[in-house]
Amino acid sequence: MKRIALLTSGGDSPGMNAAIRAIVKTCLFYNIVPVGIRDGYKGMVNNDMFDMSYSDVDNIIHTGGTIIGSSRCLEFKEKETRLIAIKNLKENLIDGLVVIGGDGTFTGATILSSEMGIPVIGIPGTIDNDIYGTDHTIGYDTALNTVISAVDKIRDTASSHHRIFFIEVMGRHAGFIAINAAVASGAESVLIPEEVPDLNKLVAQIQHQNKGKRSSIIIVAEGEQEGGSLELINKVSPMLEGFDLRPTVLGHIQRGGSPSAFDRILATRMGSFAVELLLDGQNSIMIGSSGDNLITTSLEAAMKLHSVPDLDRLVLLKKMLTRF
Ligand code: ADP
Repeated sequence: MKRIALLTSGGDSPGMNAAIRAIVKTCLFYNIVPVGIRDGYKGMVNNDMFDMSYSDVDNIIHTGGTIIGSSRCLEFKEKETRLIAIKNLKENLIDGLVVIGGDGTFTGATILSSEMGIPVIGIPGTIDNDIYGTDHTIGYDTALNTVISAVDKIRDTASSHHRIFFIEVMGRHAGFIAINAAVASGAESVLIPEEVPDLNKLVAQIQHQNKGKRSSIIIVAEGEQEGGSLELINKVSPMLEGFDLRPTVLGHIQRGGSPSAFDRILATRMGSFAVELLLDGQNSIMIGSSGDNLITTSLEAAMKLHSVPDLDRLVLLKKMLTRF
């Protein structure tokens, strides 16, 4: 292996830069040239690639986003477009590829690998934590902490003004952020995509809770089945007359910011391991974490299977809320 290319694709997540830094430094450690591809598969198609050096990754471990850029490149789903990308990779003498992203990114990499014969390694980078084959994706821990600190702030107003806040958090079709933010922020309830919500129960709970406390935080996953925080309020407000209900959508503050220590360490370990796997002759593998260990899963399994949060957390939440 003389030249290893790397790209970030799909939604950005905090810690992607730490992973880029680790890939580049590990390549240089082994006298391999790391080649950065700008803006995901778009840069592969447009031949927007550059040889990277130590100075490219100086002072980036603590920054959010991705220094090489990301994009959604839908044309990459077409074979003619991928043939252009393959020509560009060959012209740049690329021997192996590391992709950082979610399951869409892994699908693109797997197809590319089968068509070109190039070995690819995937690193899970998304705040949603919805990738099969890993306990944690890069960025999830930071996003969770961002959500918790926002909810703590909103609670000040909720309790001062006796309000019921419905706080919508990211996570796409998965409830990892929502369920764990609810446990960690002491929320009164949570709605996640993995569970059919019972609005009558929710209303009864808010009524019961507020006999003593007179404020509530309800965490609403963006992918839950009622259509989001505003829609939920529209549905329950006729049953909650006299209550002051407020929606808050946290939005993109959840995707940015300086990565947590956990994400920096995970990203550094995964980035370096990706280069080691390529040197070891591996292909179509995703790196994951299990406890404190790094593990590997086939990219195929990571793409096809789904990861769901531990629903025992709902039982835990209920125990924290019981109020006699
Ligand atoms: P994520 O990687 O976070 O799941 P996307 O689903 O947007 O994000 O996928 C990122 C990129 O991966 C897409 O913009 C596209 O370039 C590539 N990709 C996704 N699905 C496919 C596919 N079926 N074939 C080829 N490329 C794909």
